[in-house]
Amino acid sequence: MAYDRNNVFARILRGEIPCSKVHEDEHVLAFRDINPLTPTHILVIPKGEYVSFDDFSEKASDAEIGAFCRAAGRIARDLGLAESGYRILANHGRHAHQEVPHFHLHIFGGRDLGRMVPKGLE
Ligand code: AMP
Repeated sequence: MAYDRNNVFARILRGEIPCSKVHEDEHVLAFRDINPLTPTHILVIPKGEYVSFDDFSEKASDAEIGAFCRAAGRIARDLGLAESGYRILANHGRHAHQEVPHFHLHIFGGRDLGRMVPKGLE
């Protein structure tokens, strides 16, 4: 799948759409989800053009992958989630209902998150 430069996260990265930023560095931007599913719901995105985790894990440099992983952990710690717990999730493709075709990691926290995947969806 080719990268679509008009996807909403590409537009946020270009500053064309505002976001509620929680972190930015050379490789990574993180901001609050516009429709939070939990009291804390953060999206962490690489600044590079990657469609999904599949694309990112195959094509991103070690520096980008390292920066992304470090940033995600630091953001969760800085938001006070490390002690109570949190969940990270990345949707790739149709079966996962990925909506925005720019790789992003969700960080959910701030309440008990229940089971990993709801029962009955086997
Ligand atoms: P996914 O289904 O993993 O692709 O999730 C996409 C997420 O992006 C959803 O949780 C949306 O609420 C979120 N989202 C879409 N547009 C925006 C936006 N402009 N700012 C922040 N979050 C957004």
